[in-house]
Amino acid sequence: MEPTHIVIRTEDNRIFYDMPELSPCNGCGACCRTMRVSFYQGELDSLPGGFVPTHLTTQVSPFIACMKGTEKGGQPCIALQPDLRCAIYSQRPSTCREFPAYLEDGSPNPRCQELRARLGLNAPPPG
Ligand code: SF4
Ligand code: SF4
Repeated sequence: MEPTHIVIRTEDNRIFYDMPELSPCNGCGACCRTMRVSFYQGELDSLPGGFVPTHLTTQVSPFIACMKGTEKGGQPCIALQPDLRCAIYSQRPSTCREFPAYLEDGSPNPRCQELRARLGLNAPPPG
């Protein structure tokens, strides 16, 4: 059976989530369509060790960048494709990696459910 999600603990004790092919995120993108997706500029591929495509981002302060389109919130991220999948999944910023459909214990993320409900989407099935 396919796992609900893959939990990755980073060296600096953050928790990142990868979603499998079959997941409630496919065909959703509610978070990518509504949230401001900002992150530390060290993640930009224009800087050593960075990985997020810089040309898809906007500098919002001396140290913070955000995904184009999400500067004010309420508008879709530039990397969200028409099929509601992320065009840069393996290069997405930490902000996206830290926002899961399910929490580490498998329970639904209430914030995810709230965003889905705002767009008229059902709550994700149990994890
Ligand atoms: S709102 Fe939830 S289900 Fe939808 S893409 Fe984001 S994390 Fe996935
Ligand atoms: S980078 Fe990808 S996962 Fe992150 S908000 Fe944009 S479309 Fe969504």
